[in-house]
Amino acid sequence: MTYRDEMKVCDNCGKKFVFRVEDQRRQAQMGFDVTAPDLCDDCRREQPAQPGLHPGIVKWYSNEKSFGFIIQSDGSEIFFHRSGVTGDPEKTLHDGSAVWYELQETDRGPQAYNVHERE
Ligand SMILES: [Zn+2]
Repeated sequence: MTYRDEMKVCDNCGKKFVFRVEDQRRQAQMGFDVTAPDLCDDCRREQPAQPGLHPGIVKWYSNEKSFGFIIQSDGSEIFFHRSGVTGDPEKTLHDGSAVWYELQETDRGPQAYNVHERE
């Protein structure tokens, strides 16, 4: 399949933004349908955390640091801490693991919690 940068218009602010080829590829690699986001990067950052479980892929997790990052379905990354992992992250989380997670707002910005393996 060939991917091409797509011009989109943000549903919220009406600004044009690009749904990049890299983002489209990443979605496909992660097993998601390739769908353009409704909102531009800026508006997505300002969106309140959506309730419920979200699918993602572990970018990396460090036992030493006790934190890691998840790649979200829109290609952006989200921080998670060991305390936000359900179960033992050393056993269940590897780079590239498919996971579910919930989002919460913290003083330091959005974080993933209730991180657990997607079967
Ligand atoms: Zn916008």
